[in-house]
Amino acid sequence: MAGIGGLVLPRFAAAPYPIVPGERPKQARSVSVLNPYGQVPVSFIIDDSTTLVNMGHFCLPQFAEAWSSTKGPERFNVPWQTWPKEIPDSFVREFGEFCREQGVKGKYSIVPYPACVGWIDRVLPGWSRSELRDSLKLVRDFMMPDWDIHPEMISHTRVIDLKTGRPLPQKTDGGYWMENGGWCEGKSADEIGDYIAYALQILKNVDLPCEGFTTPGGFGSPAMENLEIGGMQALRSVFKVEVPHYFKYVASGSDESTLPQVEFASGIDTDSPDFIVNIPSCTGDWFGDWHGGNPGPMDEVVDRHITADFQQGRMVEVIRKGEPACFLTHWPNMYANGAGQNFKSFQAIVKRINAAYGDRIRWMKLSEIARYWAAKELTAIEHVGNSVTLNAPVGTTGFMLKIDTPGNAMPRIVAGPANTLDQMKEAKQTRGPLSSGEWRHSKTGIELCIELRKGKSVLQLS
Ligand SMILES: [Zn+2]
Repeated sequence: MAGIGGLVLPRFAAAPYPIVPGERPKQARSVSVLNPYGQVPVSFIIDDSTTLVNMGHFCLPQFAEAWSSTKGPERFNVPWQTWPKEIPDSFVREFGEFCREQGVKGKYSIVPYPACVGWIDRVLPGWSRSELRDSLKLVRDFMMPDWDIHPEMISHTRVIDLKTGRPLPQKTDGGYWMENGGWCEGKSADEIGDYIAYALQILKNVDLPCEGFTTPGGFGSPAMENLEIGGMQALRSVFKVEVPHYFKYVASGSDESTLPQVEFASGIDTDSPDFIVNIPSCTGDWFGDWHGGNPGPMDEVVDRHITADFQQGRMVEVIRKGEPACFLTHWPNMYANGAGQNFKSFQAIVKRINAAYGDRIRWMKLSEIARYWAAKELTAIEHVGNSVTLNAPVGTTGFMLKIDTPGNAMPRIVAGPANTLDQMKEAKQTRGPLSSGEWRHSKTGIELCIELRKGKSVLQLS
């Protein structure tokens, strides 16, 4: 990415995040890529989680010291001293079990040097070796099947000197370099990428593979494009990620789109194109203050996501639009110092979403959404006569296409010469999701769902 790293690229549109799509392939107008399996993606994003350490308790005094003078001391006037130091593994298990039962999937951060308390790949003072090992094992074996693991940079509090592993010294004005402050300002993509790679490497040391990262608060805000390029480089260098993605932006306004952005695409006609997928959330943390000291009233919290009659709330709004609906909380807030209230609100939201939409939605990890959007945006699609040719730089499951095709003859889709698609079968239902390998008539042609393989596939319609 050295070529791109040196350029200053123009912003293409007014948006809360960079929109620098880069290369795009030709896609026949008569073919549209729909949502995966014809279902709206839904996901749950958890920030500020790690192993054992309650970030609410440990971050608060550091944030207060860094920002009381500029952001006002009242913001930090909370009894963090009385909050538990630990969010126990029993809660991780209880939460994860509910999610598995309900089909919930999403993203779960693991901050690698949480609030400078200790290193998850070395020692976590306050907990024994075996407690740390068990906690990591719980994340690896129990959470990872349904949750992407992201670093949320190194400490989520102080910026670390990568040479020494110690926090940077105070600024000359007495302030502190905080990860969620302005450290990235003026930094190159390589410098930001090195910082992210350092965080990823710690997770690699404890066998927690990542395909994405989350920015701690405003990390990267003064260097949005370099954050994307550096982040892509970091994910590629540490984990050889085929489809890198990240979470940073909240698009919670009624008029805001939550479509993932496939950024800085280049070499899309090669075997290993470059790009990174930016996946925004559709809500802020509406469960209360992030630190868990002030959980919101249950009725209000739940209704703001989805009301009891399923007619209102941000989740309803976004799902109706057919855009990915990723909602958000912070792990200390979900735990709420053991109060249980926010976990109950969350359970109510999930049950309403599932009851309202059933198989019209699909719970997905962020990495699955990223992969689908990369395939949707970067697959070259040619439609000539009875033949549709797909050239896909990345493969995905549940690739759903609508093909406008004239004529009254019953369309039949057979495996093309250059692929191994199974024989397609006609679906009975006229609307709703399709399984992989199914097709049906639509008003203007046909809809079909396939396992899209990397490389070239040909569909014959006859
Ligand atoms: Zn955070």
